[in-house]
Amino acid sequence: MNMDFIVKLPIPQDVKAQYPLTDELSKVVEKRNKEINDVFTGKSDKFVLVIGPCSADNDDSVLDYIGRLRTVQDKVEDKILIVPRIYTNKPRTTGDGYKGMLHQPDPNAKPDMLKGIVAIRHLHMQALKDTGFTCADEMLYPENHRYLNDILGYVAIGARSVEDQQHRLTASGLNIPVGMKNPTSGDLSVMMNSITAAQHSHTFIYRGWEAHSHGNPTAHAILRGYVNKHGQSLPNYHYEDLLHLHELYSKSDLVNPAVVIDTNHANSGKKPLEQPRIAKEILHSMRHNSDIHKMVKGLMIESYIEDGAQRIGECVYGKSITDPCLGWEKTEKLILEMADLL
Ligand code: PEP
Ligand code: MN
Repeated sequence: MNMDFIVKLPIPQDVKAQYPLTDELSKVVEKRNKEINDVFTGKSDKFVLVIGPCSADNDDSVLDYIGRLRTVQDKVEDKILIVPRIYTNKPRTTGDGYKGMLHQPDPNAKPDMLKGIVAIRHLHMQALKDTGFTCADEMLYPENHRYLNDILGYVAIGARSVEDQQHRLTASGLNIPVGMKNPTSGDLSVMMNSITAAQHSHTFIYRGWEAHSHGNPTAHAILRGYVNKHGQSLPNYHYEDLLHLHELYSKSDLVNPAVVIDTNHANSGKKPLEQPRIAKEILHSMRHNSDIHKMVKGLMIESYIEDGAQRIGECVYGKSITDPCLGWEKTEKLILEMADLL
């Protein structure tokens, strides 16, 4: 093989034994995750906001940001359930570039996967300790899920992974809601097939085990826009798109038909300041049609302390080093406005 094996990494069980969740925190996770789950089974009519930076690039600004979300959460708790994004591993379009805290706990230093595993567990755990929030992460590498499975509240399968069998089968063994993004091409059948796979049970190989999953009834859709053959970003959050998804769900055997709409990525054409307008349009579609109202469980918003994005090494506090985000002031205003509109 044309590669070096640098260090044998500890298995999830060992990392958890070294950095365990206290019984007290486990109870917080259980109660909190029931709240999130209840939204996707329809027991709760709260509106979920999966919100935060494109990538969690460092502890200080991410924890500062999540602390701010905590203060807003308390103001809107009767209507909105906030699930912060702590995205610790990033899919890259060409494979090159910053691949997240898992690879590079310090974005300005060389990759260090052992430090990365400890860093991502530490960050998710610290957010939980500080705020009581269980957070969302992308399941980029299914084999790594167990490093965090006792702390996470929500998982997304990205647009570049959603057609992959191992992602789908692993999702079928999770007991938290898993959002399946539409692929970058926009083909909704890929997303619907992925939800079907995740809702069913399977026998497969996982981390060297023959494993049997029980099926995940809260696997659901995430619409994130798509790119056409000319490379143009096209949205799929409009009223007609939501009606179409409702029809696809009606024709399927899927349980708990649900969608979270990603207001950035190809839906905004990576123009993050469009997100408040997009969010309000979606709330309007929900008010207009009761089927849509029932199916749309929440939004995914890319937001951080500063508007926009910067290059790695510029070191502006709280500014994204991957996709451009909506800054804090506009984010806070948007959440409060949404609570009034819901
Ligand atoms: C993201 O959520 O930052 C992301 C990479 O999304 P997608 O898979 O939709 O491109
Ligand atoms: Mn992003």
